[in-house]
Amino acid sequence: MSSQRRAASKPTTYLPSVTVLRQLQADFDAGYSRLRKGDWWLLDHPMTQGIARMGNRLIRGHRQAPFRDLFVAMIIDLVEEYWPQLHRCRRPRCRAVFVKVGKEAYCSSKCSNRTRWDRFKSRPRPRDYHREREQAIRKKRGPLAKVKVMRSASPKTPRSRST
Ligand SMILES: [Zn+2]
Repeated sequence: MSSQRRAASKPTTYLPSVTVLRQLQADFDAGYSRLRKGDWWLLDHPMTQGIARMGNRLIRGHRQAPFRDLFVAMIIDLVEEYWPQLHRCRRPRCRAVFVKVGKEAYCSSKCSNRTRWDRFKSRPRPRDYHREREQAIRKKRGPLAKVKVMRSASPKTPRSRST
């Protein structure tokens, strides 16, 4: 295998590692939290950048710095642009920042569904008096006791016939 082919088969070497991505995520979270509190989010590392004419407009660019600083600088630009739409996920265990579209309160359908499920699970269940009575009798007479508790005469729902 030629060295050229070997290089082409390994494009992942140019991608940042999981550790670096986690660190960038933490940098973003810390910066975003500072902004929400009313503080400055500073990128206090040296960086080369300039502006150039593009037709009638001026564009900012030619940034040169280590990858991490360039990435944070880009995130700061995006946060500045999308600030009014940025919100934290309402799920306490998540709290991820996302771009809110419409009335969304959660970063994903996964968070929304899990919150709904947690709310449903934590709802107090109606008491099952019939079962409670059976358990009380078994506790008194022993686990093998025959228990016959009459169900109260409640209106039964008619069964639909299956064809
Ligand atoms: Zn979430």
